Amino acid sequence: MALRQILQYPNPALKRRADAVENIGGDVARLVEDLAETMYAAPGVGLAATQVGEGVRVIVLDVRTEDEEPGKRLLKLINPEITEREGEVVWEEGCLSVPELTAPVKRARRVLVRAWTPAEREIQIEGEELLAVALQHEIDHLDGKLFLDRLSRLKRDLYRARQRKLARQGRESGTGKRPLPI
Ligand SMILES: [Zn+2]
Repeated sequence: MALRQILQYPNPALKRRADAVENIGGDVARLVEDLAETMYAAPGVGLAATQVGEGVRVIVLDVRTEDEEPGKRLLKLINPEITEREGEVVWEEGCLSVPELTAPVKRARRVLVRAWTPAEREIQIEGEELLAVALQHEIDHLDGKLFLDRLSRLKRDLYRARQRKLARQGRESGTGKRPLPI
């Protein structure tokens, strides 16, 4: 296992649509382990292969709460696909590839996702609330979309301006406690 570097906005690799995995084997299994390790180290709730510069449809998620041990709820999903969406929820999202910003994003409140596991088993996952949000957020990454793309232009412009200012100051502003980025 190895920690991977998480690409950050505006890296163009984050805009690329990832390809489906055709053979679930050695390389993908290794990538899944790297993603999980990198996600826990960040720490974050989810991570997509796109975020470490790998253009394949693989995501990991763990929507643990603070008092839960990491790993118990770990999901390793290959070629995930949303097959059902229901309802609406607005969630304050952050992203490991978009440091220093959280913003409310509108998503489906419940989703059904079909995917494959590294053990080559086809599974179906039902997610509500945070899990639904995280699944949609990570699958967006595989399609080359960031949560910024789901914000109004005004909010996006504000974010870019703030990023430029921080870059000029040559530092990242350390702020208080935030929810784990997705
Ligand atoms: Zn993200």
